[in-house]
Amino acid sequence: MQLFKQLDLTFPAAPALVVLGRDYALEAKAREMLSALEADALAAAIQVEWNARLFSAAGRADFRRKLVSLNPRLREHDAAEIDRTLRHEVAHLLAQFRAGRRRVAPHGTEWRKACRDLGITDEARTHTLPFPVHRREPRFRYECPCCGKNFPRVRRIKRAIACLDCCRKFNRGKFYPSAQLRLVENKKGLSLSRPLRKKDL
Ligand SMILES: [Zn+2]
Ligand SMILES: [Zn+2]
Repeated sequence: MQLFKQLDLTFPAAPALVVLGRDYALEAKAREMLSALEADALAAAIQVEWNARLFSAAGRADFRRKLVSLNPRLREHDAAEIDRTLRHEVAHLLAQFRAGRRRVAPHGTEWRKACRDLGITDEARTHTLPFPVHRREPRFRYECPCCGKNFPRVRRIKRAIACLDCCRKFNRGKFYPSAQLRLVENKKGLSLSRPLRKKDL
């Protein structure tokens, strides 16, 4: 099971702007699937999030944290693709859950059985996105004005986003305007001394 860095961005609470972070609807769906398979302890603990740090991977499963991460780019595809990826990743958690302390191979027999139980057969043993991804160097650097943490990004950030650490620290995890990320470096490597303006977003 792979581990990965913690989600570091958060979005305003307005539904249209929620593109990263926990997805409670998908979480409920995962919970329902697992309860139906009598994996109640796992059903109770599972979390599902959208994580922009997944680059070419469609999804990831972290058994230790009982966390399924999905690539926001999946939304460029259709709902069926999101559902399939969710089940693929939940199958990883279910396979390990059933095996207890015994280690299971990532896409081995136990996983394939879990896939079947979750309604996906002939599932591909990869996590690759169903569309091409061009790996690119981050060209934009954003900074949290509160704590100074850096956020390199390949693309311009089009929405108001804030540093999760500071949102947690100062606003109980909700969008904290003072921690809204500012563009501090653009593709030419030019440092911007002025704060981010609307047209930069
Ligand atoms: Zn997999
Ligand atoms: Zn911060």
